[in-house]
Amino acid sequence: MPSPMALKKERSPAANTSPARPKLLLDWYDRHRRRLPWRAAPGETADPYRVWLSEIMLQQTTVKAVGPYFEKFVARWPDVTALGRASLDDVLRMWAGLGYYSRARNLYACAVAVARDHGGEFPDTEEGLRALPGIGPYTAAAIAAIAFDRRTMPVDGNIERVVSRLFAVEEELPQAKPLIRQLAATLLADSRAGDSAQALMDLGASICTPKKPACSLCPLNEDCAARAQATQETFPRKAPKKSGTLRRGAAFVVMRGDELLVRTRPEKGLLGGMTEVPGSDWLAGQDDKVAKEQAPELKGLSRWQRRLGVVTHVFTHFPLELVVYTARAEARTRAPEGMRWVAIATLADEALPNVMRKVIAHALDR
Ligand code: SF4
Repeated sequence: MPSPMALKKERSPAANTSPARPKLLLDWYDRHRRRLPWRAAPGETADPYRVWLSEIMLQQTTVKAVGPYFEKFVARWPDVTALGRASLDDVLRMWAGLGYYSRARNLYACAVAVARDHGGEFPDTEEGLRALPGIGPYTAAAIAAIAFDRRTMPVDGNIERVVSRLFAVEEELPQAKPLIRQLAATLLADSRAGDSAQALMDLGASICTPKKPACSLCPLNEDCAARAQATQETFPRKAPKKSGTLRRGAAFVVMRGDELLVRTRPEKGLLGGMTEVPGSDWLAGQDDKVAKEQAPELKGLSRWQRRLGVVTHVFTHFPLELVVYTARAEARTRAPEGMRWVAIATLADEALPNVMRKVIAHALDR
């Protein structure tokens, strides 16, 4: 059996770019493509608005989670011009629950730019698309390929996995990205670039999964280096993960009858412009006593009650642990400056991030 080093040398990109792969992939796609709400039916032309909207929503979120949000958005704003005419508040409210709110802000900024600067038509090149807010290299390539059939291969985590296995790429991510992009491009058919990309996306999502890939069903299995070595699950190679430092803080849930005290976070920064209950700073090594001193001050407030347990949430760069306190305010108590009362029954209309939903559920014991 050859050593891993020998395999690494043998499997240079040039030696492994089988011309049969693009056709095998497309044939498989024609038989097994996923039906997705944003995807054009076979033979239909893709709608750039739907492709763009789905790609933005799918960044760091699953297809299952995105489905209902996508349907709600296109029902309310059927094209990019309509979305560009909406208010940011409405867009954030509709987005609430999908997470990563900077994406919703960029989504809106992009819709405004396309409506205002491009007459409501998305640019049809990667370069033109990348000039728009919230569209990075991957999304630009995905829209260019799927909506405009530009011959380019978008490479996301799913595609990185398939390609790194197919070619047994020994180099670790993220350094391996340029090589993986180069190898992924060899899987593009001469025409139907969008379908080649979607075929690879579907293969990664349904067959070449992170654990237990279904290699026996894979159209590329006879030509897969990782399968030949029985090392599929070890790809892609990755440097050990560094997780962010745990931050801690306190959240204060004040009820006045059936209303709750909330405020709006500053426009810039984490969860910018979203609604939250008052809280302390979120700091590594935050002391519970110090955090509690940041509780809002209201006249005639009952004693703070600490709820048992903590609320945990993981942001991209750090995990968070919140202690939750509750208190009751008397009828007609005025909200402190910068805060307001909202009826608990209308909380669903607020742009509440998931972490705050968890805090309120914990406080109200729902
Ligand atoms: S044969 Fe298996 S590991 Fe290789 S690409 Fe197909 S599903 Fe992935």
